[in-house]
Amino acid sequence: MLSFGKFFLSFFAKIFAMSLKIPLKTALRTTSAHLKKLSQMGITTIQDLLEYFPRNIESTEITSQFLSIQLGVKNTISGKLCDFRVEKTPRGKKIGKAVLILDDGAEIEAVWFQIPYMLKNIKDEARVYLVGKISRDFGKIQISNPEVHLHRDVHVGRLRAIYSESPPITSKWLREKIAGLLPLAKDFAEILPAEILAEYNFPRKFEAIRSIHAPKSVEDWNLAKKRLSFEEIFEIQVRVLREKLIRNQTSRNKYPAKLDPEAVKADLKTLPFELTLAQKKVLFQILKDFEKDRPAHRLVQGDVGSGKTVVAFLAAAAQIRAGNQVVILAPTAILAQQHFKKAVEFFAGISSSPPDKGELEGVSVKQNPAEIRVELLIGATTAKNKKLIKRDLADGQIQVLIGTHAVLTEDTIFKNLGLAIIDEQHRFGVAQRAILAKNNSHVVAMTATPIPRTLALTIYGNQDLSVIDELPPGRKQVITKIVATPKEKNLLHLFIRDQIEKSRQIFWVCPLVDESDKIEAKSVLQEYEKISREIFPDKRVEFLHGKLKPREKTAIMERFKNKEFDILVSTSVIEVGVDIPDATVMVIENAERFGLAQLHQFRGRIGRNDMQSYCFLICGKPDDKNKTRLKALEQYHQGQKLAEIDLQLRGMGEIYGTKQAGMPDFKVADLSDLQMLQDTRHWALKILKEDINLAKYPALKKKVESGEVYF
Ligand code: ADP
Ligand code: MG
Repeated sequence: MLSFGKFFLSFFAKIFAMSLKIPLKTALRTTSAHLKKLSQMGITTIQDLLEYFPRNIESTEITSQFLSIQLGVKNTISGKLCDFRVEKTPRGKKIGKAVLILDDGAEIEAVWFQIPYMLKNIKDEARVYLVGKISRDFGKIQISNPEVHLHRDVHVGRLRAIYSESPPITSKWLREKIAGLLPLAKDFAEILPAEILAEYNFPRKFEAIRSIHAPKSVEDWNLAKKRLSFEEIFEIQVRVLREKLIRNQTSRNKYPAKLDPEAVKADLKTLPFELTLAQKKVLFQILKDFEKDRPAHRLVQGDVGSGKTVVAFLAAAAQIRAGNQVVILAPTAILAQQHFKKAVEFFAGISSSPPDKGELEGVSVKQNPAEIRVELLIGATTAKNKKLIKRDLADGQIQVLIGTHAVLTEDTIFKNLGLAIIDEQHRFGVAQRAILAKNNSHVVAMTATPIPRTLALTIYGNQDLSVIDELPPGRKQVITKIVATPKEKNLLHLFIRDQIEKSRQIFWVCPLVDESDKIEAKSVLQEYEKISREIFPDKRVEFLHGKLKPREKTAIMERFKNKEFDILVSTSVIEVGVDIPDATVMVIENAERFGLAQLHQFRGRIGRNDMQSYCFLICGKPDDKNKTRLKALEQYHQGQKLAEIDLQLRGMGEIYGTKQAGMPDFKVADLSDLQMLQDTRHWALKILKEDINLAKYPALKKKVESGEVYF
């Protein structure tokens, strides 16, 4: 009989041809634990599951002859399973043992450290298929911990998919469930234009989906993978490039400002330092943007400490001279306050120091206004002050507004917003950016997230890119060391004690913990208890985590800055960009769990002056890949370089924690494939040039318009 779920499924599929949207809850027969895990993995519909692509494939071609066996690797062998028994090791652990007799009579010993359920009732001499690594152990040929299958099914005798696992979701489970749903792949819309399919000889979408999960050959799988990657990157390229082309067609520069070298020179003179060459270059690029006939749309990338803020201020000054307003947005109240303090100082400086008379001779210089009013608007601003600020903003009496998301409400109206500067742009949502876009102002976004150049050009293809690839002179490199053994940990504690006695401060970062997380991670509170009671009972230790109220967080950071305590234990949420001048040590627990780019950003919070700083990466037993990754951090000090390395070693998804970082969640695409990036861009431009409305490509249009632009 047809179950209700099955009925529902076929009903939906037939009537609406939208089987792909059916929730897995309805479509699958499985446990709630499986469904819960899937949902945490972002997989809730049939489509999501069919788009959970395998990371690799392997052959389970069956061997039943001794001479065909390959030692040291995985084999799939078939024969009669005899003499299954459970034995106890000297330590009391149960292990399973059996002998597999191959068709040519050769015997292979099978050993299980975890005994598969199906062996419990197995008949002696039953035919089985074992999949596992075969080795020679004291002269005996042994297969250890093999999978056991009783039939040739989706697992044996073929090329099979290997997925990233997340218990209880295993490759085996995925293979079985996906095989059942694969016929529905026919409902995937074809997004790639016919001319692209023809050019590369690509299979159609539904065929590619089938082949990636259940390939007929290695070539079949590779081509499916290539096609799906192509589609993934192509779609993003079309989306971002289309946005740019449309913007270029429709928007005019409402806030032009002529580049005025004398005025800029005068601004520079008020600074206590000389800009680095990289800062000058980027400032120049922004100032040139203000002269063009379209509004600026620029992303400034620069490592922590590269001095993005001052570049932003100098660009703001040029807009203020042109009579326009500027807003500077920061993702947190702490950062907004920090920017506010610096801005008050900077703008007071430039408004009170007109250019030298000598330089003025014969040149008409537009001066900075005698008084530049800078205001701060954050969530904690009182209602009364918010009202006053909004009134004066609408009147044009405020030149610079600094704030957080709190600024981006419908009732914040600017008189003439010439420039919006967004610090850590990825922490602002699409809706918030849309509010800004309404003003037609120039937009300059700043980010310390190192992004490999190829990737940046792809996902941020809708904007211009500037990189501050140089740190101000005199900065010492942060000495970075992996700490793995108990002995090294003891030395670390001694070292920290010595630093505190020299009046230095310590950041101590622990990974975030969520309940579903099985990996042993140290919670902030546990760690705080240990550090404050056992390791440094005589030092002042405080903690900070994401669950605290914004006001509490601000207060703690403020007290840390004022040196009211020595060690701050926190989750990875500690505010990006906050300046703690005397912090010279950064300790990172479970460092292997973070991406290199993120670790590098943590490290950027120290070493912000001329004192020698240190970053310690605590990790348990790192596997080879993690060892290579962490070693790269010891060796390299450029965010970009580290991001490239991580991209090579771990792929996209794991580097940035994708969604949180405002990055697209690539499923198959390999972003280090330059040729592919170029080809997709070429095709995206070609198609957009002929048909910017995508009228000829309805499926592509729908997909492109349903997705986000990453800035
Ligand atoms: P980030 O790029 O991380 O936002 P900041 O703008 O906060 O960096 O700059 C970090 C520190 O470096 C600030 O204290 C700033 O005043 C200082 N700084 C910026 N540019 C220079 C420079 N060219 N020379 C010396 N110090 C600089
Ligand atoms: Mg900054």
